[in-house]
Order: sequence, then C-alpha cells, then structure tokens
Amino acid sequence: MQSRDLTLISLIPIAVIVIVGLRAAGMWGQAVMTQALALKILRDLQSAMFAKLMSVDFARFAREDVGRLVSRFTNDITIVGYALVRAAQTSLRDSLTLIGSIAMMFYLDWVLAGVVIGVFALAARPLGAIAKRARKQTSIAQEQIGHVTALLNEIFGASRFVKTYSLERRETERANRAFEEQRRLGMKLAHNRARSEPLLEILGGVALAGVLYLAGVRIAAGHMTLGDLFGMIGAVGVATPAARSISGFNTMLNEALAAVTRIFTLIDEPETINDKPGAKALAVKEGRIEFSDVGFSYGEAPAVENVSFTVEPGETVALVGPSGSGKSTIFNLLPRLYDVTHGAVRIDGQDVRDVTVVSLRSSISLVAQEAALFNDTIRNNIALGRASATYAEIEEAARNAAAHDFIMALPNGYDTAAGERGGNLSGGERQRIALARAFLRDAPILLLDEATSALDAASEAQVQDALKRLSKGRTVLVIAHRLATVRDADRILALENGRIVEVGRHDELVAKGGLYARLSRLQFQSTEQAS
Ligand code: ADP
Repeated sequence: MQSRDLTLISLIPIAVIVIVGLRAAGMWGQAVMTQALALKILRDLQSAMFAKLMSVDFARFAREDVGRLVSRFTNDITIVGYALVRAAQTSLRDSLTLIGSIAMMFYLDWVLAGVVIGVFALAARPLGAIAKRARKQTSIAQEQIGHVTALLNEIFGASRFVKTYSLERRETERANRAFEEQRRLGMKLAHNRARSEPLLEILGGVALAGVLYLAGVRIAAGHMTLGDLFGMIGAVGVATPAARSISGFNTMLNEALAAVTRIFTLIDEPETINDKPGAKALAVKEGRIEFSDVGFSYGEAPAVENVSFTVEPGETVALVGPSGSGKSTIFNLLPRLYDVTHGAVRIDGQDVRDVTVVSLRSSISLVAQEAALFNDTIRNNIALGRASATYAEIEEAARNAAAHDFIMALPNGYDTAAGERGGNLSGGERQRIALARAFLRDAPILLLDEATSALDAASEAQVQDALKRLSKGRTVLVIAHRLATVRDADRILALENGRIVEVGRHDELVAKGGLYARLSRLQFQSTEQAS
C-alpha cells in the first residue's frame, strides 16, 4: 500500500513534466503553424494584387496614385495579418472558454445564469456599433496612410528640385500636416476602440453585483447553496475576460474586413484591354500603320478627334503640335495602352483590337523622353528589350546605340549598376541605353518620343546618329522636338486640339505660313552646331 503511494508520488511529477512539455510543444507548434498559414495567405494576396496590377489597363495607374496602391501591399496586408493570427490563436480558445463557462453557470443555477447572460446581451448593440464605426474609421485612416506614402514618394522623388528651389520648409510643413492628420485619425480610432473594454468591465461588475444580490435572496430561500454561489462567481470571472477578448477581436475583425474589401476590390477589378476570344497573333509583313477616323477621350472632352493618317512601311512621320494637342494620345493608342472610342487603328490591315496584346506590343519599340531604367546592371537594363538576348547581341545593340564606349569606361562595364531610376548615368547616357534596348528589340515599328531637354553637342550628335540607324527599315512615328528630325521626316502631321490641321514636309509647311510655321520658329532646337 505504502510502496504504491510512493510510486504514485514519484510518477506525478514526471507526469506533470511530460504534460507541461507536451503543452509547450503544442503552443510552439500552434504559434508557428498559424503564422505559417497567415503569412502564406498574405503572400498569396500580395501576388494576386500584383498580378492584377500587371494585367490591368495602363489607365488604372493614372486613376490612383502609387502611394495608395503601395499601401494595399503594406498597411492593408499588415492589418489582415494581425487579424488572421489573432483569429487562429486566441479566438477559438476564447470562444470555447466562454461557452464552457456559460454552460457551467446554467448547470449551477439557470435563473442566475439567465440574468448574467441578459446583462451581457444588453452590451451587444453598443459593441456592434463600436465595431462598425471602427471599420469606417480604419478605411479613412488607411486612405490617409496611402496619402502619406504618395506624398513622401513625390517629395523624395523631387529632392533635387526641392533643394535648388529651397522648398525644404514648405515641404516639411506639408509633410507635417499629413503626419498630424494621420495622428488625428489614429487617435479617433483609438478613442473608439478604447470604448469597448471599459464597457465590458462595467458590465462584468454589474453582472457580479446582480449575481451576489440574487444569490443572497435564493440562498435565503433555500434554492441555492453557498458552493453554487462560489462556482457561479468563478464562472463569471472566467467568462468576462473571454467576452472582452472576443469583443476586442470583433473590432479588429471589422478593421481587417475593411482592408480585405479594399484588397479584393483591387483583385476583382475588370480588365477592359485584353485579347478577344480566338484572337490571333499580329502578322507584320511590312509595318504599315493606319489611323482611320480615330477619336478618343480620357474623360468628357475628346483628346483626339477625326484623326486619319497612314505611315507607309519604312517611312518616318513626325507629330508636331503644342502641348496638349494629342501627340502622346496617338502614341498610347497604337500599342493599345488605351482603346479608341471611335474609328480604328490598324497595322498591316489588322485592327489592333483583334490581335493578341502580346504580339501587338512585341512588334513595337517605344523610346520615350525619360528612359525607364531599373536599379540593375546596365546589361540587364538593355536586355529588357528582349529577354532572350545573348551577351554578344546586347553588346552589338550597345555599339549601334553609341553606348558601348561609355559603358566600357564605367568601373564595372556592363555589370555596373544603373542606380535608382538610372541615377548613376547622365541624361544622354540614359537615352543611349534606351536606344540600345530598342536596337535589341528589333521591332518593325518604332515609337519615338524625342527628349525636349538639350544634350551636350557630342551626345546629341551621337544620339542623332544612332536614331538614324535605328529608324532605317522601320516604320517610325516620332514626337519631334529636334529640327533635324522634322527636316528628315517623310511627312509631318501638325496637331492642334486633338485634330490634324496640316500635313506635309518641313519646307512645304514652313512656306505655307500656318500653325507649323509658327511652331517651328518657336519650338525646334537646332542641332546644326552639333553635327
Ligand atoms: P500632347 O502629347 O500633345 O502634349 P496629350 O495627348 O498628352 O497631348 O493630351 C491630349 C489631351 O488629353 C489634353 O487635353 C490632355 O489634357 C488630355 N489628357 C492627356 N492624358 C490624360 C489623362 N491621363 N487623363 C485625362 N486627360 C488626359
């Protein structure tokens, strides 16, 4: 008998250690697993949002600023993450605790239990209102965070301008106003959130007081024992924190719902520019571009109207006109960054809306004013023109673009980093990288938006030479800012208010003495001295 007791006594501590060990392992496993699951969900949401943004229309990016889009990936994801982890880790436990303690109350004394539940039920409505308001306030606060991100992007991006124009103080004030607004909204949210806990605390107290009073009456009447009372108080003590935690979670859940709604609104956005069912690849035989009676508007007013012209294979046609006359819009319509609202754009007789978007865009090279450079090596930046290019092809393209020599003079040659937005390179160098990209792409159609900023004479001459080589044998549409370009163009389209008002060669149009003659006097930078 005694020896059995001893064995038991020595077994108990071991059992305790084993149980505690198992519990610890379980806690660890649960924490890791819930995190793993939550992080996987968040990554999938980010991927889905990003994939959508890569496939939606170009117009999407004009509609909402980048900061707000970025905050979907950062702030909204963080909010959803907290809620997911909390849901998995504590809300199940709290719900079970609450259910268990309520069952216990009913088992002990159903009348008292009814009273306690009634008191808590009274709180449901105000708690619901608090949660609803939290959802709305979080939306507003998140918008503000997006606004701050956008503002910082803008200010840091323009840091050179800010410094040279001594705008530090003005920008500091602007940023501080945005930070203050964020604080104010955060505080509002905190005030609202802070309401639910004290409310439940008071209710807990009221419930306890009610229990004590009623219990006194029922014990005196012999309906209840003192033991039942202690059990009851214990159950209320366990139920209150669980209810409080669930209510806190409810507020959090509402905030997360607001974030999830924003995330899914983005994921579910319709794409208007996509392939028609059964669309075939564009077959470029010669590269004839044809705009027939094209009209387009971004909003109410038309950006271009009645635009009809043809660029024959191998021709270079220059677009000229005051700013806002529709030159960029014509550029946007060819690779279907936007779809025409009237008329049609055709390449070799095929409507651009009837062919696959990928095949359409792969037959077009765009060389824009601002060469889009990524913070990667020079080699990889050129390779963006065609992913399958070999090193030798990249080098050849660079030679053609008069970029090889300056690249070789860089500390790491082709492996030199271009810096953020190509910041390690000069304007002329960036343009030549963009040209190298176009050489590599070797597309039959070239859209060229000439730089308005003047380059130094040597760079200018090199860029012009490279452009001539690039244009050879291709159909070229160019937004012209250089005298040399308009002189060499096969035709010039002079635009005003979205319409073509004059067509002809440089000399003809100058002689005509109309819009073009006026513009060419004002606008074109001579490159004579450069060549
Ligand atoms: P250009 O390139 O000749 O300066 P654009 O083609 O950019 O002219 O602009 C033509 C017209 O369309 C202008 O009135 C301009 O304000 C308008 N516009 C251009 N882009 C947008 C846009 N993303 N949203 C709304 N309107 C735009």
